[in-house]
Amino acid sequence: MKIFENKELKIENFISGNLNNNSYLISSKLTENSLVVDVPDNPRELINKIPRNRLNKSQNLEKIKILITHGHYDHIEGIELLTERIGLVDIKIGFADAKYLNYSGNIDRLRSQKEIIFSNIKLEIIYTPGHTEGSTCYFANFDDNKFLFSGDTLFPGGPGKTIDSQNFKKIYESIKNKLYILPKDTVILPGHGDSITIEDSIKEFNNFEYKNHISGDISWTK
Ligand SMILES: [Zn+2]
Repeated sequence: MKIFENKELKIENFISGNLNNNSYLISSKLTENSLVVDVPDNPRELINKIPRNRLNKSQNLEKIKILITHGHYDHIEGIELLTERIGLVDIKIGFADAKYLNYSGNIDRLRSQKEIIFSNIKLEIIYTPGHTEGSTCYFANFDDNKFLFSGDTLFPGGPGKTIDSQNFKKIYESIKNKLYILPKDTVILPGHGDSITIEDSIKEFNNFEYKNHISGDISWTK
């Protein structure tokens, strides 16, 4: 499904895998470059849409990069099939989550980098530990249209699942201090399900009362 298009680039969304994961393809219309955000199981539809050299896979190293929001299985399951088809390309992932990857290509472990610039595609990297230690969000501002690829850090209704109260504190602070400062009209594109704006997400959050013993599946609105 097409999410956005202007003269320079395009964002498309694909849903696959048992947990109905979203993956996103950001492709330049000026060059043949593209970025893939998360690679769930059975990414056939995604693979079909990636602009690439079909005859010489080694050429694709310069054309395509993979960004992973976090290392949970359902977000990386399709990497093997994808790279079998397009060739080994660079994968970028938060430093602490690189351990989840079993990959023979190059892994770029993100720790202090602030942005990704790839042809005419520019994304800001936001480190949001909590759901996993290496959870990373990517913010885009294309022609004043703003998008946040949030992985499992933030959904409509609340944050992603956390394994204990320390991690709930981390995700709570990541969201409050790093995501809720983004422009209000930013569209959150999560790892599963529908989108929501930062403005509406903050409205849900405003009634939430932080408690230091909670974790798991927390909703802002309950
Ligand atoms: Zn996850």
